[in-house]
Amino acid sequence: MNVYDGERMAELLAAEGLAAAADGEDADLVVLNTCHIREKAAEKVFSEVGRLRREDGSRPMVAVAGCVAQAEGAEIHRRTADVDIVVGPQAYHRLPELVAAAAAGHRAVDTDMPADSKFGALPGRARRRAPSAFLTVQEGCDKFCTYCVVPYTRGAEVSRPWAQILDEAKALVDAGAREITLLGQNVNAWEDGGRGLHHLIEALAALPALARIRYTTSHPNDMQDGLIAAHRDIDKLMPFLHLPVQSGSDRILRAMNRSHSVKSYLTLLDRVRAARPDIAISGDYIVGFPGETEADFAATLAVVRAVGHAQAFSFKYSPRPGTPAATMADQVSPAVMDDRLRRLQALIGEQQHAFNRASVGARTSVLLERKGRHPGQLIGKSPWLQSVVVDSGAIGDLIEVEIAAAGPNSLTGVVPGRAAA
Ligand code: SAH
Ligand code: SF4
Repeated sequence: MNVYDGERMAELLAAEGLAAAADGEDADLVVLNTCHIREKAAEKVFSEVGRLRREDGSRPMVAVAGCVAQAEGAEIHRRTADVDIVVGPQAYHRLPELVAAAAAGHRAVDTDMPADSKFGALPGRARRRAPSAFLTVQEGCDKFCTYCVVPYTRGAEVSRPWAQILDEAKALVDAGAREITLLGQNVNAWEDGGRGLHHLIEALAALPALARIRYTTSHPNDMQDGLIAAHRDIDKLMPFLHLPVQSGSDRILRAMNRSHSVKSYLTLLDRVRAARPDIAISGDYIVGFPGETEADFAATLAVVRAVGHAQAFSFKYSPRPGTPAATMADQVSPAVMDDRLRRLQALIGEQQHAFNRASVGARTSVLLERKGRHPGQLIGKSPWLQSVVVDSGAIGDLIEVEIAAAGPNSLTGVVPGRAAA
């Protein structure tokens, strides 16, 4: 979502006559779009701000945007003199005014969550587009997992209106997008006038030039029957589902306020797989939540084994200021967290490699998205979100390849009838 927000801020500033600088060195304005989800991500911003100072002591105008801006607000100005603008994720449509205020010498803070959505105030999407585009349809979260800052930084769950989303999707497709990924903190909670995410996906699938549709991130409790059926019925909806469970221990899930159990999660996956047997399952896991014992962690390894992931993200629990879990007893030591993360990532890595190996010999479509490391090489994505390296075609092509080899993180594809390079 920060990539999407970054694009929108760039488009907004371009509409004001600002042009993108080649790099931070010669920029007059640098916007740091930040993440507050874990402490490591949040701390990065202050070292980045320091790095913007040039050898002669001068620096560009600096704006801190995103969720660190939302969470810290004016505290950022108190902590460093090197930031001019602090703007939260729901207020960035006001950047032009804030830039003007900063140019006049005022240090500006805007962390409002205005009732009128920023989306209405943003300009139309830029003309030239990468083959794969993001489109935010839902923001915010009402779930209040006890470890998480999102409900505080992004605000309450809000769905963008149907017509606005379809307009933006059409603009993206007209500008060359072949794939759209619908975004939301709980994207499957999207609704407008009784219509759910699957209705939206159905409408997007009717756009002839759009070849692929994805969505992320979903919450298990919002996984509606209609959305599951869409995975069976809509060819353009890719066979990939990112559905975090966080832990394999019901005791920990209760302490996390996840409001689903391990069993309900696995039952849900059975239903999804019944609808779309080849679907790739991704997830998120937290190790070292307060009170997590070795037995709880073993249950997490067991749920990973039961699911069989195509890929998954895993994180050490990071106490976030203002969240209930941050003050819970029995915080787990960093050494134990390191050890558990290493074991979990080894298992997920094995599963990912096995998933990739199972693709060898198969024919699959690849949407070519960018240049590879070597001349003539291109990198694209399979329907299951695997990176595929090929040596023919052009960016934006949707080609059929045969998978010749598989590594832990990518596949090698050859166009049938051509020998591998
Ligand atoms: N809404 C999505 C996730 C959004 S946040 C969901 O609930 O499924 C992305 C991921 O960051 C979460 O799934 C969680 O695994 C991780 N995360 C959030 N807060 C965290 C924290 N305090 N420490 C470690 N990981 C965290
Ligand atoms: Fe955070 Fe996701 Fe839980 Fe919302 S549902 S509080 S975004 S982890």
